[in-house]
Amino acid sequence: MSTHQPISPCMTLRNYIYGIWLCLLLPHAALADWHREEAPVMGTQITVELWHEEAARGKALTAAVLDEMHRIDNLMSSWKPDSELSRVNARAAQEPVTVSRELLGLVISALAFSEATGGAFDITYASAGKYYDYRKGIKPTVVQLEQALPAIDYRHVKVDTASSTIVFIHPGVRIDLGGIAKGYAVDQSIAILRKAGIDNALVSAGGDTRVIGERWGRAWKVGIRDPRNRDGVVTMIPLKDLAISTSGDYERYFEEDGVRYHHILNPGTGQSSSAVHSASIIGSNATATDALSTSIFVMGVEKGLQLIDSLPDTEAVIIDNQGRMHYSAGLDRLD
Ligand code: ADP
Ligand code: MG
Repeated sequence: MSTHQPISPCMTLRNYIYGIWLCLLLPHAALADWHREEAPVMGTQITVELWHEEAARGKALTAAVLDEMHRIDNLMSSWKPDSELSRVNARAAQEPVTVSRELLGLVISALAFSEATGGAFDITYASAGKYYDYRKGIKPTVVQLEQALPAIDYRHVKVDTASSTIVFIHPGVRIDLGGIAKGYAVDQSIAILRKAGIDNALVSAGGDTRVIGERWGRAWKVGIRDPRNRDGVVTMIPLKDLAISTSGDYERYFEEDGVRYHHILNPGTGQSSSAVHSASIIGSNATATDALSTSIFVMGVEKGLQLIDSLPDTEAVIIDNQGRMHYSAGLDRLD
């Protein structure tokens, strides 16, 4: 067979086979990719990253996650006067307020975390929390704090599942889901992606992250920040089908006379908790890791690790107020 022949039967066959391979591979090679979207929602930065074979579908799914975040924010934000939560805060001290099953469900979960943490997690912290403005450097006066303290007690919040109502049995009670709603929104987003058949994804809302599967065949890696160095990371946690939440005293704060006033309050005092600099919790779902990271931040190293070690499939990394790191008993089991 002459190599000078313009098109040999052999070459034609080879090109044909090559062409078929190209046709089979190209649509995927050109379009299958990681799709990533970021947007500010719920007062924090939302990130969604997922693998999808089709660019349009991948883009639609990242948009669906952001829509879900907005939906939950509109329902549960204490900053939006027309949210369902704000309606509860405005009226529940006078009469039972009818709420959606969804809000009722999350409030019931929050109350369960209050029971499990001996009251460290308490959505009525907001009875005093409403007097803080970290951006403006404002904190409650001694008198305001004194008056607010009796209203902080999760047992003042009564839910009735039959009528789907919430009532406060004490005056001056106010609730805020800031310590659990972002984790819940991450879980809802992950559920949307799972339902759509996604095998590899990450959704994060500020300090709350949950992943599906892996990234490029390896565990996802989420960093735990150095609480006293904005750009520093103290350790990377590998995650497969897990959630991680970090609560830190460096997220929202101001300093006055050497005291750091930040956004995680000890329900017993109505003041910022100072036992630790950060608490990170790893577990199967972000609603739980979110509520637990806030709780363990308040409980401190000893009580916090005791609780975490008693819970199945839940681990913790705590950085105390001297910068020392503490780990839960089972952390070395994570691969
Ligand atoms: P971030 O909001 O920075 O992700 P967290 O998950 O720890 O951090 O949540 C802190 C938020 O939780 C606060 O902004 C406030 O809305 C709420 N919060 C503060 N103290 C408590 C508490 N003791 N129990 C429940 N929620 C709290
Ligand atoms: Mg939290």
